[in-house]
Amino acid sequence: MSPGRRNSSAPTVFAITLGCPKNRVDTEVMLGDLLSHGWELAGEPGRADVLLVNTCGFLKAAREESVDTLREVAREMKPGARLVAAGCMTERFRRELAREVPEAGILVGTRELLSLRDRLEGKRGPVGSFPTAANPRLVSTTERMAYIKVADGCSRRCSFCLIPRLKGRQRSRPAADIVEESANLAATGTRELVLVAQDLVHYGTDLPERPSLASLVRSISGQVPQLRWIRLMYLFPRDLSDELLDCVADCDNVLPYLDIPVQHADDRVLAAMRRGTTRKSLETLVERVRAKVPGCVLRTTYMVGFPGETDIAFDNLLSFAEQARFEMAGVFEFSAEPGSMAAGLPEQVPAHVRAERSRALQSLLDRIASKTRGDMEGEVHEAVIEATDPTMGRFWFQAPEVDGAVRLDGRGADVDVGEFIRARIIGARDIDFLGTAES
Ligand code: SF4
Repeated sequence: MSPGRRNSSAPTVFAITLGCPKNRVDTEVMLGDLLSHGWELAGEPGRADVLLVNTCGFLKAAREESVDTLREVAREMKPGARLVAAGCMTERFRRELAREVPEAGILVGTRELLSLRDRLEGKRGPVGSFPTAANPRLVSTTERMAYIKVADGCSRRCSFCLIPRLKGRQRSRPAADIVEESANLAATGTRELVLVAQDLVHYGTDLPERPSLASLVRSISGQVPQLRWIRLMYLFPRDLSDELLDCVADCDNVLPYLDIPVQHADDRVLAAMRRGTTRKSLETLVERVRAKVPGCVLRTTYMVGFPGETDIAFDNLLSFAEQARFEMAGVFEFSAEPGSMAAGLPEQVPAHVRAERSRALQSLLDRIASKTRGDMEGEVHEAVIEATDPTMGRFWFQAPEVDGAVRLDGRGADVDVGEFIRARIIGARDIDFLGTAES
């Protein structure tokens, strides 16, 4: 995040966010609070009075990256500067982190987001309070796209997942507060709003009046018409209501793009994952979504190598992936996370088998994706421009940071970043599409 004209006496901060879009929003809230109280952004770590690393603790690899990043910026700190380790790793692995990176003098957990400024001033600050629309936010995404966190934490108990321990039970924001923040973001130029939570489908189930996700989305869609694209990420494949699918089908500015992480499709593995889904329920869900939302694009995430995943179980996953044909998909290898129930399960799958299965599934998904992209050639769709030299953008069915981009030929000069255009698909290269702008 680059600084404006500097007021030399203002304290400065340099921030790095690791992990998911929900973590990015948390950093934006922490920076928004500091900048609205006279702080400024430093252009590089070595110039900052405070260095903030918002860590990720979801997987072992993410925690290693968090420690490496903290050590790296610690090496660049100017004398007297302070290092803050915030986020999920801090929340759950505070002692390990303090041991591994003693330079991190201030540790801010996921429930202490709004206490950072007070902590920097040597005070305790609020703990457990949840950011609202009233909290200033330094949006760090492109000028037309912003994430909005509608809830935090998760009340499900998937056996491989640490998030309920990192973030606690689900806490939803009041719908009116989310609509207000959506309007604030639209007023500053946001046209693509991406709703995120650990478990979006369960939005509102912890609130007294239990507003549904569908009612929330309809409110945003109706009350903030400037929003051109409303996108829903992280929809648990259970409890996905017809009400929500009707809302997606009815509302013009709600994208028929749904991210539904299924993780696996073998009944025995799904049971051990404690997902509460079966292959049959997942097949029915995909059919229902495609029937209720014609032309929708579906994204999913698969996990391979879960304890007890036999060759037959893996074949079941492959055949499901072949059958369901999600347009966008990612693959993860199981990671035995300390403190997760699955880490203690028997029949752990050896690392080389996990890697083999990940490659096998990825090559199947690549084949499906290449066929899907081939079938879309010649189609014209709406895209948003995100760069102009060369001209790059994203079609409506490409979520930010995960689904690639579209490379547009020919019209570099006369389109602006943030502009929405119609573009024709003329090919694909790896995860990206090739397109030409339609006049
Ligand atoms: S729903 Fe998602 S965040 Fe919640 S426990 Fe399961 S995997 Fe973790």
